[in-house]
Amino acid sequence: MKFGTYVFEPKKAEGFDFHLFRVKPEVGRRLPPMSDMYSNIAIFGDNVTARNHPDWISQSPLGPAWRTNDNFNVRWDILCHTQPEHRAEQLDYIEDVARHSPGVWLNSIHFADHGHCTCPRCHALWEKSGLSWLEWRRKEVTDYMREVSERVRDRAKKKFVIGVLPDPVSSYERFGINFDDLAPLTDEFLVVMFSKNYATPWYWEMLTRGFKKLFKDVPLNIALYVFGPGDNPAEVPAPSELVTLSVRAGRAGADGILYLTDKASQIWDFQKAVVDRVELREKLKTYGCQEVLDFFKSWEKVVE
Ligand SMILES: [Zn+2]
Repeated sequence: MKFGTYVFEPKKAEGFDFHLFRVKPEVGRRLPPMSDMYSNIAIFGDNVTARNHPDWISQSPLGPAWRTNDNFNVRWDILCHTQPEHRAEQLDYIEDVARHSPGVWLNSIHFADHGHCTCPRCHALWEKSGLSWLEWRRKEVTDYMREVSERVRDRAKKKFVIGVLPDPVSSYERFGINFDDLAPLTDEFLVVMFSKNYATPWYWEMLTRGFKKLFKDVPLNIALYVFGPGDNPAEVPAPSELVTLSVRAGRAGADGILYLTDKASQIWDFQKAVVDRVELREKLKTYGCQEVLDFFKSWEKVVE
């Protein structure tokens, strides 16, 4: 095994095998690469470019990929994957950064999420391809990564690492990523896997989506522990976490949700707490699953 640092400033900590410096993170700001640190570049998640070219933002039936769109887990503004000027500029930029550092590790290489991108250019490209919608997206991602790989590995002769989001099952449907396509193009993969600061319900939403895909037409029930037997009251999930998770599992396709408690009275406590979370339930209206919120609202009569 090897151990590295992954940092936002060009400084190397002692005691590691290698260092990865975020020369262009998703916020879009750019810093010069370092000759002795790998360079990390986010391609399509790019707040600066999105601000300068708002018409380049990725489009979908659930709205554009601005970071304020609660229908998706977007933490930054994401550009259309086929925007030609951005693609060309990033190719040259990535090659230049590769030449000035030991190699390039990429983030944000893919379509924003499921349903993206439905802009007129993407629609025309898809029609012209003769492929299914999902296969066309896969081809776009793979073809572009082949070009980037050629720039970094063949031209700059540097190490190349592709980063993907933590979803092993549904990355094809969501992002247009096929891991077998990308494997020959990259030296290694990177999966950013854990951050308390990241939206943690991401993982449970991802699991729901994954099981839904694998179970096909058989309905999927999920169980959420509200208060398990012997659970430490200080460590059970907050009602607000369970409310958020329920909405996100609902929009990812769960057909049924079970709330587990040791005692029936704990269900009532939970219902009361959910009813009291008026602001949160209001906020979640933009998250794309009204059915769950209507169900929670029906508890107002139960606990009054
Ligand atoms: Zn597009």
